Amino acid sequence: HQLKASNYPCQFEIRGEVFMHKKAFERLNQERLDNGEVTYANPRNFASGTVKLQDSAEVAKRPLDCFLYFFYAHKNQFKTHWESLQTVKSWGFPVCEHTALCSNIQEVLAFIKTWETERFKLSYDIDGIVLKVNSFAQQEELGFTAKSPRWAISYKYKAASAQTILESVGYQVGRTGAVTPVAHLKPVLLAGTTVKRATLHNANEIVRLNLYEGDTVYVEKGGEIIPKITGVNEALRNADAQPIIYANNCPRCNTFLVRKEGEAAYYCPNDEGCPPQIVGKIQHFIGRKAMNIDGLGDETIESFFKKGFLHHISDLYELNQRIDELRTLERFGEKSITNMISGIEKSKEMPFEKVLFGLGIRCVGETV
Ligand SMILES: [Zn+2]
Repeated sequence: HQLKASNYPCQFEIRGEVFMHKKAFERLNQERLDNGEVTYANPRNFASGTVKLQDSAEVAKRPLDCFLYFFYAHKNQFKTHWESLQTVKSWGFPVCEHTALCSNIQEVLAFIKTWETERFKLSYDIDGIVLKVNSFAQQEELGFTAKSPRWAISYKYKAASAQTILESVGYQVGRTGAVTPVAHLKPVLLAGTTVKRATLHNANEIVRLNLYEGDTVYVEKGGEIIPKITGVNEALRNADAQPIIYANNCPRCNTFLVRKEGEAAYYCPNDEGCPPQIVGKIQHFIGRKAMNIDGLGDETIESFFKKGFLHHISDLYELNQRIDELRTLERFGEKSITNMISGIEKSKEMPFEKVLFGLGIRCVGETV
């Protein structure tokens, strides 16, 4: 952000709140997932963790944003809070657009009601709104309690929550072999979107929830992007329902799952033979942050694997011996083949650290 005007006082204080747009958070977590790193639970934790960092250059790199909501100068030039915010906005400070000047409590209540549902359309999460007395003279008269001003109060919305049926529990196997349980739900409207899945995190979570087949569950969407199950309505449980038992074997290759000391996640150890691990590793290798191979995408890797063309990263470099076979594939023209082969050829010039990262060794990141 850059300040525009020059008519601001030479000394003033401005306060605000740092936040993160949902899209930026999703991108960040996807990148971490691609790198085999642990994802952040929610934008709020990520933002507050970032602000606490000592390294301001690192903070500047992170995709955070802010809204400013409080202006103070020794010589106050404003009569109202509204006026001060409009002015700092005109100076170029980021101020939230979604504010209203209300002249009575009915207008305040209408504003609260509107944002009860409108908030789900915002590009960031909010959990409530703040009401403030506008006149600075009245603010001064009201003063402070030991903890907070008497002229400001927050109204918190209830976390969006819904009740639905657990239809089944499925498992996702990642590139590193980590197995994540996912709840498949009877579709239910929650926070403006239809929810069909919720994360179950790991085996401990299934035990903690005491989850049974066909249970009626409470689903909540808090600061997290992916909804989670917060509890079970045990009164509605079928008498003959069976408890959910975490899988013993990999859902994709049937290998017996293992759990490492001190880790919550189970892993499929069959890294050479488990389809999602093979495909995931090759997809990681060709990715933007690794070998960045042009003319080759995740879907192509998936279909080449199914055709038996790819089983290991090194097979990419033998695709040029399969050109006749590639020509027989649907939706795969001469130009795509040429682009792909030249992209693969060019990747041989990538520096070694990209190759090392591309191999996706656990705990070896971009800079380790
Ligand atoms: Zn497996």
